[in-house]
Amino acid sequence: MDMKAHVNWHAIARAVRPETRLLIDGKFRHAASGATLASVNPATGEHIADIACGGADDVDLAANVAAKRFRDGVWSKMPLRQRVGILTRFAELIGEHRETLAVLDTLEMGKPVSEMCTIDIPASILTMRFMAEGLDKIGGTCPVTNGNALHYILRQPLGVVGCITPWNYPLMMAVWKVAPALAAGNSVVLKPAEDASLSALMLGRLFLEAGGPDGVFNVVPGLGSVAGKALALSHDVAKIAFTGSTAVGRQMYRYAADSNLKAVSAELGGKSPQIILGDVDNLAKVAATVADGLFGNQGEVCSAGTRILVARQLEEEFTELLRQEALARYRPGDPLDPATTMGPLVSKTHQQRVIGHIATALDEGARCILGGLSDQSSEISAFVEPTLFAGVDNGMSIARNEVFGPVGAVIAHDGPEHAVALANDNPYGLAAGIWTTNLGAAHRAARDLECGMVWINGYMNGDMSQPWSGWKLSGHGRDKCLDALVDSTHSKSVWVTLE
Ligand code: NAD
Repeated sequence: MDMKAHVNWHAIARAVRPETRLLIDGKFRHAASGATLASVNPATGEHIADIACGGADDVDLAANVAAKRFRDGVWSKMPLRQRVGILTRFAELIGEHRETLAVLDTLEMGKPVSEMCTIDIPASILTMRFMAEGLDKIGGTCPVTNGNALHYILRQPLGVVGCITPWNYPLMMAVWKVAPALAAGNSVVLKPAEDASLSALMLGRLFLEAGGPDGVFNVVPGLGSVAGKALALSHDVAKIAFTGSTAVGRQMYRYAADSNLKAVSAELGGKSPQIILGDVDNLAKVAATVADGLFGNQGEVCSAGTRILVARQLEEEFTELLRQEALARYRPGDPLDPATTMGPLVSKTHQQRVIGHIATALDEGARCILGGLSDQSSEISAFVEPTLFAGVDNGMSIARNEVFGPVGAVIAHDGPEHAVALANDNPYGLAAGIWTTNLGAAHRAARDLECGMVWINGYMNGDMSQPWSGWKLSGHGRDKCLDALVDSTHSKSVWVTLE
């Protein structure tokens, strides 16, 4: 998105009047109980809005309406080109309202507006377009069979898909879930995270504006333990598409077992390694990329490369380069200033959680060489300085647990095989990066790393063709690629006797 200096983000933020009510059956309405959730700006502590807080009855109504719409075929049986046209217009409208959407996420969760412009908004538009264009690229098959029969396999929408999303990329995560579900012909109920729901409600409005039928895409903000749970337990819901923590992801499978055995896809947490082998020559350039993979989006990234596994002979030099890159590139500041590269964490509660992880690392003897506890004093805002620990053992808490903040751990390794063994010695398995000039070592590592995504001599490159997926405790969903569309359908086998 164009980042011209004339965009006055503070003025847009002052002028924005977000929709705060639930979207059910094409109408915005208050929660049945009248309850609201306060949305707070984590950079300033200021109150942004009171958002309707959906309860179980609101979720049940939304799921029931969505199921009725699915059965009456208003979307699931809509002529294909018409559905493509609506989703394409939906993508255009996200682009036309990009500044408002950017400001909503920045205000609610503290992400720098520059990141909204370069990552979240373009990715959301691209995802919606890709799924619209892709919906007729997946299909059934007609296998070869005995001459007296015809066997064809239909690929059909599931029914109602319940999407439950986190706050770290509020708009983009919602689109990653909603776009394939809608494109495949399902109805949707979206339950966004309680810390950042406004862009999801606006997304619902834009779907209607694009010509989407009432009740096909419903948005019900609310508490996870109430609204999220009700959605995951609903008998009207055929699949839960979840992104969030591993702890809550586990719950999704339990809810499915306790209700209608709905399908579950879960994209969960991570503790991803970035491996630097001893043959790397351009260490300064590598350090800059590693810093971005660690501190981008305040470290509130599932695939953040938080374990820096560096060859022992380079440990001292590389750690210092990484510290300098972090200092030069990541200074916390006003997220509405386009020059800012690091905003506050999403909330005071999350800030305290991250500070707790830093305190534990210090207690366990990790050496803090950047940030730490000294600068985290603001009583209003939720900032945490970029923090780096050196001389970390892979068994320490800071190397094992997901922090979900700007905190990295440098761990020495004794060669490629040791590095891969350390990388795999962790319950998570989302992503990994490896830097080397040795082609064989790079590809062997890519083969042997226990994770869903590997980057060689880079970190976080991606496009729509990429299955965004994890392994082990990072879950087993697949976002973005055509697989996400396929996973929003089921196959049905039809036999025709020809005699
Ligand atoms: P979270 O698990 O606390 O919440 C995620 C969603 O689940 C929210 O909408 C929340 O309201 C809901 N929820 C919470 N408790 C629930 C319950 N008992 N029943 C039903 N729903 C419930 O996660 P978060 O703090 O919002 O997000 C951070 C986590 O998300 C991190 O672990 C991060 O790694 C993960 N994440 C993963 C990916 C990925 O693609 N793998 C992407 C982004 C974030």
